[in-house]
Amino acid sequence: MLTIFPGWFDGPLHTSLLGKASADGTLDIRVHDLRDWTTDRHRSVDDTPYGGGAGMVMRADVWIAACEAVWNDLPSERTAGALEPPDGARYVAGGDRPRTVLLTPRGRTLTQPLAAELAQEPRLTLLCGRYEGVDERVHDLVATDEVSIGDYVVFGGEVAAAAVIETVTRLVPGVVGNAASPTDESFTSGLLEYPQYTRPPQVRGVGVPEVLTSGDHGAVARWRAEQARELTRRRRPDLLPDEPLDPTSDDPPQRP
Ligand code: SAM
Repeated sequence: MLTIFPGWFDGPLHTSLLGKASADGTLDIRVHDLRDWTTDRHRSVDDTPYGGGAGMVMRADVWIAACEAVWNDLPSERTAGALEPPDGARYVAGGDRPRTVLLTPRGRTLTQPLAAELAQEPRLTLLCGRYEGVDERVHDLVATDEVSIGDYVVFGGEVAAAAVIETVTRLVPGVVGNAASPTDESFTSGLLEYPQYTRPPQVRGVGVPEVLTSGDHGAVARWRAEQARELTRRRRPDLLPDEPLDPTSDDPPQRP
């Protein structure tokens, strides 16, 4: 991953299952500071936009030097300020390169199927933009994929990269303890997940559906399947394109 705020990831990458998977070697997540590929006193990664306008744009030359170094496992000391690809480099901007995801609001929306696709890759490089965004030549020459976390704009790509990392890595075998849980979740089956309950049996006068304490596993499975379908029909009818919209539903219609 490349970012100008490597410290942003200190918490997320070392917490809970991600932290454990990194510690035991199941995952190898490396955070690189994009500024290591700058050569000026101010370690500048941005400049004013051609054609004028507000804000600053991230420079393509810095991104390209950084990505070619990371793709080819070369240190920044050898590659900072490079105007040409490193000698003998296997991966080069505009040519053959490993799967490289630029986080951007214009990208393909992050979904469970996209996460499943990315989880097949042996290696991913994630690029976190800041400011007004990234010079178009990074989109063209460096990124193999552009991914958005939704139709809204956040300050920077770090929070989007964290969403990609969590979604993708929990599909990597060995990261989630109970192997069944990632396959039994919202979106994986095409439906939202059924409601969940745990002890105590009564909370502020609200109990637990009787079927869940009946010990009848078949009835529990049927109840869960019905609940998942009903919840999806009410909340996310767009996930069930063959079903008619319910005009009596209390939930806001969400089909585009
Ligand atoms: N000017 C850009 C635009 O209108 O599309 C927004 C730039 S945003 C302030 C800075 C960076 O945050 C982007 O380069 C991108 O890396 C990241 N970012 C913001 N919103 C995002 C989203 N919905 N999905 C993925 N990345 C996002």
